[in-house]
Amino acid sequence: MNKRDIEPFFAALKAANPSPQTELEYTTVFELLTAVLLSAQATDVGVNKATRKLFPVANTPQAILDLGLEGLEGYIKTIGLYRSKAKHLMQTCRMLVELHGGQVPRTREELEALPGVGRKTANVVLNVAFGESTMAVDTHIFRVSNRTGLAPGKTPLAVEMQLLQRVPPAYAVDSHHWLILLGRYVCQARKPRCWECVVARYCDFTPKTPAP
Ligand code: SF4
Repeated sequence: MNKRDIEPFFAALKAANPSPQTELEYTTVFELLTAVLLSAQATDVGVNKATRKLFPVANTPQAILDLGLEGLEGYIKTIGLYRSKAKHLMQTCRMLVELHGGQVPRTREELEALPGVGRKTANVVLNVAFGESTMAVDTHIFRVSNRTGLAPGKTPLAVEMQLLQRVPPAYAVDSHHWLILLGRYVCQARKPRCWECVVARYCDFTPKTPAP
């Protein structure tokens, strides 16, 4: 993608959706961290279904610890990889209570030191909860960045670095959501819906999918 097309690319996404939001449901930073931790290789819809039952009962690190491992598993067993996620979440809650006064820390280093929290999860929390211009490259952002030519790269980290360089500052905080939503609903893996895509004119992908 030509450099001069990047600004209008994001302007088009912004015009179509001025305030994009995460589709994970949460009301506190700890709920967000929990939902993101549970969402690896799972859908936001599936995570929301489980957390709608979990959060009214336990939405603080201490309350999750009080549930115990089996109690927690009971709430999240519909989510893929729930056993390891439950274990990581319990360990994370223990660290939050013992090292951070029960609060979610604000730095990448402290977040990534939590069990089950990798670079992507830390990026989501830093972006969504703390408004930082981080870029959590998931499968959707990886595909869209490569297909469109916006930020080609062989690994998620390479794409992340390209995006951090190429996304204009005015769009930096929200770009993560625009790209995820574009990939989830329009630029889908098997058959991109180019005929209804608002950024088609800036996108390198050829041939574009015709309207059915
Ligand atoms: S034009 Fe097609 S390939 Fe390009 S971003 Fe839109 S849906 Fe994806």
